[in-house]
Amino acid sequence: HSKECGRGTFSYFDEKMNAKAAERLILHGGLRQALGRDELSLVYQPQVNLRTGRVFGAEALLRWTPRDGEPVSPSRFIPVAEESGLILPIGEYVIHEAFRQARRWCDAGLPIQVSINVSGIQIYRSDLVATLAAVQRDTGVAPDLIELELTESTLMEDVNAAREVLDALKRAGYGLAIDDFGTGYSSLAYLKRFPLNKLKIDRSFVTDVCSNAEDRAIARAVIQIARSLNHRVIAEGVETVEQAALLRRHGCNEAQGYLFGRPMAADELAGLLDAPATAARHHLERRSGGA
Ligand code: C2E
Ligand code: MG
Ligand code: MG
Ligand code: MG
Repeated sequence: HSKECGRGTFSYFDEKMNAKAAERLILHGGLRQALGRDELSLVYQPQVNLRTGRVFGAEALLRWTPRDGEPVSPSRFIPVAEESGLILPIGEYVIHEAFRQARRWCDAGLPIQVSINVSGIQIYRSDLVATLAAVQRDTGVAPDLIELELTESTLMEDVNAAREVLDALKRAGYGLAIDDFGTGYSSLAYLKRFPLNKLKIDRSFVTDVCSNAEDRAIARAVIQIARSLNHRVIAEGVETVEQAALLRRHGCNEAQGYLFGRPMAADELAGLLDAPATAARHHLERRSGGA
């Protein structure tokens, strides 16, 4: 029907939309087989306490490498997984695997807290509480070693339903963090209604936190909000010693980013537990005079 419009504008959009739809269709086809073909895996990015410099936890991040192709970035395939509902089995895989890894670390004498990204679909369209309970029972991992990362937009989709789920998760003993804080639609009034433990300052405010006064003001405001509400606060995307020192000076508890380590294989993270943390600690102490 685009021809009837005469100007070509519509066919241009049609083409773009077709290209996008085609890409999604291809990704969807591949993603549907990914679990069965063992193409999914988790990598772990260290999370560091800014006061002690110690690695206390790791965020589990999903990776997809199709058997006959290049790795696909989660920012491309997660939206497709969410739209198609494939995020439900994929999310269960992530939960299983993250708990199994937490268990392995525990058995090795390394009680590393594992953060798991949870999509809104899992909150609203699955029995997340029951899934976690079953996996927790099977693996015997203490719930306080598991943190769930949710986004503001997810929680705002249906505040009452989200609150019920979060209350149950809190009762079960899981840590609850808001991911990418400051980038979603949210109302500060709702912050107090959810039983949260942690706010995660989005990377977009961290990147230029040393050079941009607005970003610094926002980062400081988020730190203040978190502290006033008795939540912990972690900065994501910390790449330089300067960023880490500044955030620490302003009261940020924790950090995650390439400075401390890229997302890596679980064994690698265990091996790095002492060395890089110690290096980062020395850096921080030199920069900000200890304490
Ligand atoms: P996120 O949860 O905010 O994860 C942080 C992202 O920032 C990761 O990208 C990580 O590799 C990247 N990152 C960490 N430190 C730095 C840094 O210092 N500099 C820069 N430039 N980037 C850094 P990744 O692994 O590509 O994941 C992208 C997003 O995909 C995640 O954002 C999350 O929203 C989603 N995702 C990943 N794994 C899962 C999963 O298992 N389930 C769900 N539902 N979503 C996931
Ligand atoms: Mg996250
Ligand atoms: Mg994040
Ligand atoms: Mg992010």
